[in-house]
Amino acid sequence: MAEEFKVTFWGVRGSYASPRKDTLQFGGNTTCLEVLIGSTTIIIDAGTGIINLGQKLVSDYFNHGGKGSLELTLLFTHLHHDHTQGLPFFAPLYLGQTVLHLFGPRNFGNELNITLERSMIPPNFPIDFYHANSIKEITTIKENNIILIDTKVPIPRLLNRYHDKSEIKPSTIVIRIMNDHSHPANGVFVYRIEYAGKSIVFATDVEGYICGDAKLIQFAKGTDLLIHDSQYSTQQYTALPTPKQGFGHSTPEMAIEVAKKAEAKTLALTHHDPLSSDSTLKKNQTKYKKQFSSLFYAQEGLSVTI
Ligand SMILES: [Zn+2]
Ligand SMILES: [Zn+2]
Repeated sequence: MAEEFKVTFWGVRGSYASPRKDTLQFGGNTTCLEVLIGSTTIIIDAGTGIINLGQKLVSDYFNHGGKGSLELTLLFTHLHHDHTQGLPFFAPLYLGQTVLHLFGPRNFGNELNITLERSMIPPNFPIDFYHANSIKEITTIKENNIILIDTKVPIPRLLNRYHDKSEIKPSTIVIRIMNDHSHPANGVFVYRIEYAGKSIVFATDVEGYICGDAKLIQFAKGTDLLIHDSQYSTQQYTALPTPKQGFGHSTPEMAIEVAKKAEAKTLALTHHDPLSSDSTLKKNQTKYKKQFSSLFYAQEGLSVTI
């Protein structure tokens, strides 16, 4: 029997954390998504939302007796601040029992381990990344990779999708990667996580194209939940003197076009602008539900069972 496939939003804000009275409902933490399939934990991005998730993971580990290793898979879409800022404060990083399987892109010619190491180094941070107690398995990945995780043994395996024909068992989680080039300056990875006939697609920090992002539409085809960037309103996107065109983010209209053409069952809008208040997001949610009825605005703490 298939295990439960659950997604929890721990950070839904773009650019920078924005804790204010008028962001309490949707949340002020930057990007972090938890995907829990049975007892396998996959995390996408380490914005400040990962700090609260880390506290939960460590207390759950000890509440269950603290036996064996705490295996966690962490995928990076890209390495901008708002997707990495929480990593130095991620409690499992300092726990000797943790095995962190980190995957992400090459960045300006540097392998992932180099970029992560540089993100936590004196004088910017007192503790060196490698001196944090956890075991870190760091892998730079490419679009032609597939990551497989068996829910019975939650240790990821990396394949080349053109050359490895490993059998995908019903208990296997499959993570596919799409390289989207719309985000400055290195683009981002969009991830598709599939398990037992269900799937989610996480497409943050992407900007739409005329007629929709065709590559993304194909990649997200038939997904149960498309989580898509919608940082800017059309007004912000186009208004002079500081139009946001080319910043690598979408409008809700762009996300809806992709969701409709990909025939996604549900659309979650995310990477909310730090200046958007709860009342603005609620108003927009009502407005855009008329264009795509199963749409919702991602909210910190919200869980969705796929
Ligand atoms: Zn971002
Ligand atoms: Zn970014």
